[in-house]
Amino acid sequence: IVKNRGRSHFRFYSEKMKRGTKHTMKIETALRKAIVKDELVLYYQPQVDLKSGVVDGFEALLRWQHPHLGFISPLEFIPLAEETGLIGPIGEWVIKKVCSSLCDWKRLGYKPASIAINLSPLQFQQAGLVEFIKKQMIINKLSPGQLEFEITEGAIQDSREALTTLNQLKSLGVKIAVDDFGTGFSSLSYLKRYPIDTLKIDQSFVKDVLLDEKDEAIITTIIHLAHSLGLNVIAEGVEQLEQLELLKLKQCQKAQGYYFSRPIPEEAVIKHYLQDIPNG
Ligand code: C2E
Ligand code: MG
Ligand code: MG
Ligand code: MG
Repeated sequence: IVKNRGRSHFRFYSEKMKRGTKHTMKIETALRKAIVKDELVLYYQPQVDLKSGVVDGFEALLRWQHPHLGFISPLEFIPLAEETGLIGPIGEWVIKKVCSSLCDWKRLGYKPASIAINLSPLQFQQAGLVEFIKKQMIINKLSPGQLEFEITEGAIQDSREALTTLNQLKSLGVKIAVDDFGTGFSSLSYLKRYPIDTLKIDQSFVKDVLLDEKDEAIITTIIHLAHSLGLNVIAEGVEQLEQLELLKLKQCQKAQGYYFSRPIPEEAVIKHYLQDIPNG
């Protein structure tokens, strides 16, 4: 009986896997066409300075709306883009779009904004990345302070190449943030040698910070670490007022999360954050 059950289990599983592969192939084919078909769009999530309460930056978050498959999460298609090499053109599209939007906003007379761009590990390793960014910055006449690049600890694992790329990026004057800080398995020693500006406290620590003393201890430690090293620190995934109050109490500098705003389309950024609206 056990054997039979095992076998039927296996059959069930393998059929599911086959469906999974088919689904993945379908998405892969569609992803190849996503750029030219204009199906990718950037949303922006406000980042709030906790002392002043002012929104002083945005994180660009990629969205893919497929006409038949519907909304596909970056958690699903970014890994696929990495596996297939499509992360190259997609990543360049993101950088180009952010830079041209910042340029548009300035041309239209809105107050200058800064935007954080996520770089996936593979993208970070690609030759020509820094040159590409430099070119876009020049074309769009950006000030270096307008851009921040987010990388994960996994992308910068103690390698000479990573250090070289970071130093080249840094020499453009842009800022560098460590995304999902505290969730990688890397040693902290890179913080001494790498030109890092910002630690982003991973949202998994923020989620249960009111219930779990260990999460609270980790957050306290990351904030202290950032202060001691002279780095900026921002908490991700803030959804509740009580979480925000706790972060303020602990002298966290900045935060982003649904409590303030979900990621929003460009039109909403302009309407709610860039335009000076007299009398509200
Ligand atoms: P991430 O960079 O750590 O981004 C934070 C994620 O948390 C985003 O999910 C954001 O929408 C979500 N989030 C923000 N506030 C809250 C909150 O209060 N509660 C909860 N539960 N979630 C919140 P999203 O947009 O689905 O992106 C997922 C991941 O996909 C990102 O994680 C990033 O690693 C990757 N990604 C997104 N856009 C890009 C991109 O343009 N390039 C690359 N390479 N990766 C990207
Ligand atoms: Mg990020
Ligand atoms: Mg993150
Ligand atoms: Mg993440």
